[in-house]
Amino acid sequence: MSGQGRFEKKSAINMFCRLFSRQSTLLRKTITTKTLTIFPKALTPSFVQHSMQATSSKNSSLQASAFSTASTLERHFPVSKIENYDSSTYKTLAFYKFYPLTKPELEDLKEKLLADFGELGIVGRIYISTEGINAQIACPEECLPKLQAYHDEYLKPMFDGDLMDLNIGTEHGKRSFRALHVRIRKQLIADGLDSSTYDLTNVPSHLSPAEWHEKLTNYEKKHGKKPILIDMRNHYESNIGFFDGAICPDADTYKDSITAMNEICDNLPRDQEIFMYCTGGIRCTKAGAILQSASGFDTVHLVDGGITSYGRWVAEQEDKVSLFRGKNFTFDARMGEKITDELLGKCQLCGQPCNRYQNCSHASCNILMVCCPSCASQFLNTCARLQCYDTVHEFMGSTKEHYHPAGPVLVDGVRAFTKQGEKDMDASSHRVVIGKKGVSCDHEHTRRTRAIEVLGEPGEVLKEWAKAGRDLPPKPTDINA
Ligand SMILES: [Zn+2]
Ligand SMILES: [Zn+2]
Repeated sequence: MSGQGRFEKKSAINMFCRLFSRQSTLLRKTITTKTLTIFPKALTPSFVQHSMQATSSKNSSLQASAFSTASTLERHFPVSKIENYDSSTYKTLAFYKFYPLTKPELEDLKEKLLADFGELGIVGRIYISTEGINAQIACPEECLPKLQAYHDEYLKPMFDGDLMDLNIGTEHGKRSFRALHVRIRKQLIADGLDSSTYDLTNVPSHLSPAEWHEKLTNYEKKHGKKPILIDMRNHYESNIGFFDGAICPDADTYKDSITAMNEICDNLPRDQEIFMYCTGGIRCTKAGAILQSASGFDTVHLVDGGITSYGRWVAEQEDKVSLFRGKNFTFDARMGEKITDELLGKCQLCGQPCNRYQNCSHASCNILMVCCPSCASQFLNTCARLQCYDTVHEFMGSTKEHYHPAGPVLVDGVRAFTKQGEKDMDASSHRVVIGKKGVSCDHEHTRRTRAIEVLGEPGEVLKEWAKAGRDLPPKPTDINA
């Protein structure tokens, strides 16, 4: 297979690429800074122009652009046009592809995407690596046709015509990312494995949402047993939504999911069909390839486009009941898309059924937790621990006149900034995040620490208030009364 060949070639020239890439990155940084700060564009010294052209002409396939008229030189001045577009018209979407890219190609692709997507006002998170591309972005509605053309005419050919189609979400609202980031990573998703032990070109079976639905619905009737269906996401994602009958491993990371997958499948016959799913499909595309190439399974099925595309499909079916229940967690400001009305999680503060996530608004805590809108309002978007609540409450009370929702403010060393897209995604849903330099949380935890470890079982944290002899803050209805 040609893809396989490229992987081998890649490893052979890896060393050279690494050296070259590092040098060219450094060179480019120097040049970009100098031209930006010292030389007006027209006066850019010829040696700088020459070096830049030499660097950029490494890969001719990256030269042709579907619509960008930016010259090689101008590509070094990525400008985001975000302010030209109405933030309420943005659509959230994703695409990815495992495809070998060389390191010099990555450098060029990064600059190209920053310039061309910036021009369209696109925001989001794009990871590129020698493994391929993974993009989660939001695009102004009016630019979707241009993005589609760019995807079809420029990006797709770069990925041998096989780039995933634009996978558009089911719930939108406000712009779901704050800025555009293109990052070069070692791997698109870290699996903790030696990449020579599996073969990404051993691509698992991609079922359309209709085929996926049909196969899972009829599996038991046909085979006399339940299907092996694995949720390849982290525990906090499957906590608020999953496919009926799925095994949801208690995973903190993708590495954990891979370990769990191997344990689940270890003793199964290799001709046993395995079904797996994740948000948009990228995690399963890799996991399925691992299971097929490293463990020798014949067939791993995944739903093409993941829960996102299944959710879009099932919403259009009048005669079918969704096999996915609850909410599809997403890694953007929306923190999820509703697929069905079921509330599968529990509010960490009051214990009511709830599927809404938020981070504690005390920046040095920032714990991720399920929290209902009522508790969020009552406890100022904090985790309700006294230190967090008091920090945010005091700040908001004492600095109201300084606080401006449009941007960060600094008062007495405290930084406050707004986060978009919380709550119900309406215009008034900005969340204030408060942090103070040098002040750390009284409970040491990391980004991966679970809310339950810090706050105990749902409702437990409120006992802290009684112990301290304090009344709970007024409920939102009390405020209105
Ligand atoms: Zn609550
Ligand atoms: Zn907190």
